[in-house]
Amino acid sequence: MIAVLKAGTNDKQIENLSSWLRSQGLDVHISKGSDHTIIGLVGDTSKIDEDLLCGLEIVEAVKRISEPFKSANRKFHPDDSVIKVGNTSVGGLDFTIMAGPCSVESEDQVMEIAKAVKAAGATMLRGGAFKPRTSPYDFQGLKADGIELLLKAKSVTGLPVVTEIMNANHLPMFEDVDVIQVGARNMQNFELLKELGRTGKPVLLKRGLANTLKELLMSAEYIMAGGNGNVILCERGIRTFETYTRNTLDISAVPMLKELTHLPIIIDPSHATGVARLVKPMAMAAVAAGADGLMIEVHNDPAHALCDGPQSLTPDAFADVMKSVRRVLDAVKED
Ligand code: PEP
Ligand code: MN
Repeated sequence: MIAVLKAGTNDKQIENLSSWLRSQGLDVHISKGSDHTIIGLVGDTSKIDEDLLCGLEIVEAVKRISEPFKSANRKFHPDDSVIKVGNTSVGGLDFTIMAGPCSVESEDQVMEIAKAVKAAGATMLRGGAFKPRTSPYDFQGLKADGIELLLKAKSVTGLPVVTEIMNANHLPMFEDVDVIQVGARNMQNFELLKELGRTGKPVLLKRGLANTLKELLMSAEYIMAGGNGNVILCERGIRTFETYTRNTLDISAVPMLKELTHLPIIIDPSHATGVARLVKPMAMAAVAAGADGLMIEVHNDPAHALCDGPQSLTPDAFADVMKSVRRVLDAVKED
């Protein structure tokens, strides 16, 4: 349920109403827009007398939110959410470029790639330390050492780092990580999501291999319900019957999610296609569709990458993609 307050309502009046609502056992989320303030009510709102609330001096309208996701709902928070990450932010007017290797393999590798992607315009360094591999015999990541190497690259380049968590017990290792990634395979690991809800850390939540947008938003809701509103969504392709590409990039997810939620949306054209030469056109399409950023895999030696070489761009190819991305960004910029 949301209560839209009349223009000119002051902070004291908002606080009085909020504390009354809290005393009714509800969580209260306040979203201040340029004209109106919206109070979002989460919890069992069945006990709230809608007519009584509507009749209050400061209340303009009361609406029930029919979708099962509340905190993530745009009705709840009409303005785009901007998630602060170190000295940058995701969402709003900023365009985010997360780039780096699929997996952290060595100090030289991650350092060389970090410097190259920064020079080409990346705003964040990605790299897997814990890798969710289909085969238990494949490289599983450097784990804690991988996180240390990412943080070393961060201290040299200044790029905030994003890396995947697979087990909530590993959270202490992620203390200095800027954005914690929840991979596609863990999108519905609800216990992990609940733990991340208890941290204040930005979370990059990737869409599951065969999950609907509603399910993605419900997973975001798990994190937000715990008090952590710093959720960034990521479309990374979904399973279809097509086999030429690794997955099928759902570009329509961007405008659809923009309608449904205020959370920022990142596109990952690398995992979506699995083919390095398809990354550029899909990155351009993502920008044109209104995405808030991109996540792109870059490797200094794709042919010998320990993971996802075929979809990884060389630093030169990445710099070229960045040029095209900037052209599309300029073309779609609103005056
Ligand atoms: C990744 O980003 O390294 C990754 C494993 O992606 P996904 O979870 O989307 O497959
Ligand atoms: Mn990968």
